Amino acid sequence: TQFTDFGLAQPVLRALEEAGYVTPTPIQAQAVPPAMEGRDLCGIAQTGTGKTAAFALPILHRLSLDNRRAPRRGCRVLVLSPTRELASQIAESFSDYGRHLPYTNTVVFGGVNINRQERAIAPGVDILVATPGRLIDLVDRRALTLEGVEILVLDEADQMLDLGFIHALKRIVKMLPARRQSLFFSATMPKNIAGLADQYLTNPVQVAV
Ligand code: AMP
Repeated sequence: TQFTDFGLAQPVLRALEEAGYVTPTPIQAQAVPPAMEGRDLCGIAQTGTGKTAAFALPILHRLSLDNRRAPRRGCRVLVLSPTRELASQIAESFSDYGRHLPYTNTVVFGGVNINRQERAIAPGVDILVATPGRLIDLVDRRALTLEGVEILVLDEADQMLDLGFIHALKRIVKMLPARRQSLFFSATMPKNIAGLADQYLTNPVQVAV
């Protein structure tokens, strides 16, 4: 399989070509086609496996299928990540793979001034990458609404729980539209994580590498 076999939107393919990507990694080969179709996904994969592109590529493809605008103070895609470092890397990947597309992305995390983040979100942003605590703070300040979220990504779910984000996570998911696509990734799948996946996903495709 090669990236050109997936039927990805031309601007996405062009960015991959420029990045020198030819062959999908195993997680990408398993995850990209069903995610492009809008299926929910439950993936067991570590960092370094190409996991970020496995969800970023189909998301960019799906965004490009219509010209919907991000709602004011809202986003179309919400990516939850346990740490600011990972969140920043994910946002950079969206910028890279989406360089020939018009979508905006913003990353928000705790420990820094919230006012700048509020201003960045105010007009609406296509892709929002966030750590759970800061996301809740923004919602509580009414700087952010999650009503318009079309796609949810939960990255490194096991680490998110280890870091004590379970309460925040549950609050966030409750605010999302029931009708959405959800992509769930974890390096490990102990019972509590599998239970969470079960609760948040609808008829998911299981992928493991
Ligand atoms: P990740 O697991 O998402 O952190 O990605 C690990 C690294 O592999 C990143 O530096 C990516 O740029 C790179 N990468 C991801 N997918 C591919 C691919 N199909 N071909 C070449 N490099 C890739």
